[in-house]
Amino acid sequence: MGDLLTQRPRGTTDILPQDVVRWQEIERTVRELCQVYGYQEIRTPVFEHTELFARGVGETTDIVEKEMYTFTDRGGRSVTLRPEGTAGVVRAFVENKLYGWADAVKLYYIGPMFRYEKPQKGRLRQLHQFGCEVFGASGPDVDAEVIALNVEVLRRSGLRDVQVELNSVGCSVCRPRHREQMVEKLTPFKEQLCTDCQRRLERNPLRIFDCKNEICQGVLMESGAPTILESLCDDCQIHFTGVQALLQSERITFKINPRLVRGLDYYTRTAWECVLPGYSSVAGGGRYNGLVAEAGGPETPGIGFAVGLDRLLMILADKQPEKSARSRLQIFVVVADPTAQVYGMEILQELRAAGIAADKDYLGKGMKAQLKSADRLGAAFTVIVGERELSKATVGLKNLVTGSQLELPRAELVEYLQSGGDKQ
Ligand SMILES: [Zn+2]
Ligand SMILES: [Zn+2]
Repeated sequence: MGDLLTQRPRGTTDILPQDVVRWQEIERTVRELCQVYGYQEIRTPVFEHTELFARGVGETTDIVEKEMYTFTDRGGRSVTLRPEGTAGVVRAFVENKLYGWADAVKLYYIGPMFRYEKPQKGRLRQLHQFGCEVFGASGPDVDAEVIALNVEVLRRSGLRDVQVELNSVGCSVCRPRHREQMVEKLTPFKEQLCTDCQRRLERNPLRIFDCKNEICQGVLMESGAPTILESLCDDCQIHFTGVQALLQSERITFKINPRLVRGLDYYTRTAWECVLPGYSSVAGGGRYNGLVAEAGGPETPGIGFAVGLDRLLMILADKQPEKSARSRLQIFVVVADPTAQVYGMEILQELRAAGIAADKDYLGKGMKAQLKSADRLGAAFTVIVGERELSKATVGLKNLVTGSQLELPRAELVEYLQSGGDKQ
């Protein structure tokens, strides 16, 4: 019982104050970029009807088969904590009739997702994702823009050496043809495939390309099963060529990976992943032209990507360990004498009312210990008040970076700090 009270559930994490600064930084970066690119934020529920994910994410995906947090609520309905962001956004798009907008609908989200995965470094059961979705536009220019935004988010966050792996996974014309060929080529080798892939062979053979099992990958080679890229219809081929040309013109380097199929069933045409030397995928996305109709809306093309923020931050921490959380505290008010207690409180209030981040000691510490606190909390200045300052209506101001000190009238303190006089 004690453990249940004092230990968080497996696969979850506490983001502590010293780490939350990095989160806020990343969130600020993505919000600013989305604004620059013309994307608006959408916030959908953390749980949805289970059916939405089964249909929207795909019943043969690992997520739906093995990883969903599904439960029956008190009203007897089956609900699921969202394992990814797209299905909920698509549902909201349909339910709120956003397809009625006269222009392409460009949305983004940030929030927690839930997957019952085997906990390991950088893989959590409550994970956090940022993602973008564009509805209503099917041209390759949209694909190129969304990929560019995906790359830019990672670059601005501090990952300079992001590489894009690109593929096309075809459409409702070429996929069924490809599927038939795969079944024909792979069926003679069925016994050699892992149990997951034996099931995939019947339900969604394309996903065999996604299997991490080396034997399965060997069988794929040996069988001569074609990649989807080799089997594209003319329209898909033209679209894919267009995407590549636009990416080249935007100087986004990419590598074609015909085996990249992504773990989700709903992708059509363009699919990509952003990878980093030494790490696996940090972000990825794809086009999903059938998903809105599948969710009960009108036939509407869509495309999107998601970035795993926990993984991104873990990689950034690996790469820039020295970059630590910086306090934004400006002033620590040090009360040198108990008679100046109220005087100190008034000054603290004045500073805060003026929008200056200020704090004080709450534990009745002596002057020396208060100065130590100011240091530890990363304050830029201390304002020192004692009996003398009280009687003269002044304050002592000490710059903790340069060590310089001065005394000035209390009435001038805020103006002095705001005018940048402290920089001298
Ligand atoms: Zn096609
Ligand atoms: Zn396999």
